Amino acid sequence: TPKTVTVLGLGLMGQALAAAFLASGTPTTVWNRTPSKAAPLTADGAVLAPTAARAVTAAPLVVVCLTDHDAVRELLAPLADSLRGRTLVNLTSGHSDGARALARWAGEHDIAYLDGAIMAIPTAIGTEHASLLYAGPQDAFDAHHATLAALGPATHLGTDHALASLYDVALLGVMWGALNSFLHGAALLETAGVKATAFAPLANAWAGSVTEFVTAYAEQIDTGTYPAHDATLDTHRATLDHLVHESEATGVNAELPRFVRALTDRAIAAGHGADSYAAMIEQFRKPTT
Ligand code: NDP
Repeated sequence: TPKTVTVLGLGLMGQALAAAFLASGTPTTVWNRTPSKAAPLTADGAVLAPTAARAVTAAPLVVVCLTDHDAVRELLAPLADSLRGRTLVNLTSGHSDGARALARWAGEHDIAYLDGAIMAIPTAIGTEHASLLYAGPQDAFDAHHATLAALGPATHLGTDHALASLYDVALLGVMWGALNSFLHGAALLETAGVKATAFAPLANAWAGSVTEFVTAYAEQIDTGTYPAHDATLDTHRATLDHLVHESEATGVNAELPRFVRALTDRAIAAGHGADSYAAMIEQFRKPTT
């Protein structure tokens, strides 16, 4: 029997999700508050349900992707009985406490619940460039993995429902950290007449090297020892000074390097000057004072 799926929410992302299910040959029922957004999908074979309740009962697997968790709660609260015995996959971005609350609610109504995060833009959905993260019961993931794979490579993070949202923001943080540093560097080089398009290939090659640091430092973070096989924090601190100095001398924004230098100062004051850069983890573990 073919697996079937229901998609609730046909915004930019929901439409891409439903289209990918259809493209994989999965019979797909859709519902959206504004039904007109379903037109391109019904033209490709999707069934438009007249109500959210009818959509939910059309398939054992229900994928929801709305603006935020408030919208999800508002939509699903009256549908608990219709969802009973089915698997609900929430691909709406949100906080981990929201995911845990939704998981509790689902548990009370015999709904198998997976919280998810989409690390992709809509045009990447259905390709190998999309990464979809899921958290919740292993058996629910295993039962629907083959269907969900139509959206893109799927990773089960663990049974704790909080994990999808936590990984989501942690990975976005990596993205913003890299992008902000690239933008700062581009502004710095612009003062010497260098185009961003000239900087980009070297920045990308260097970002590739940084992945090796990430791998090595992850090991050190987990073991709690930070041997400086490559460079000491004292050395990093001195070089960071150059970045602050160049930023100030060229008149570009120096806040980002000043902030990083302040963090290294605190780590060195805590006795980590001879350790590797990974020792900075202890500054990140502390709450902001
Ligand atoms: P859109 O704004 O395009 O779509 C929002 C959807 O939510 C629409 O279907 C809208 O219905 C529906 N909606 C909002 N409020 C309600 C409500 N109270 N009741 C019922 N339906 C409601 O957003 P996206 O599709 O881009 O994003 C959806 C989710 O996916 C977000 O959480 C976003 O963070 C996440 N995401 C998006 C990515 C992207 O690149 N777009 C990337 C990764 C994650 P209607 O059409 O009637 O307004």
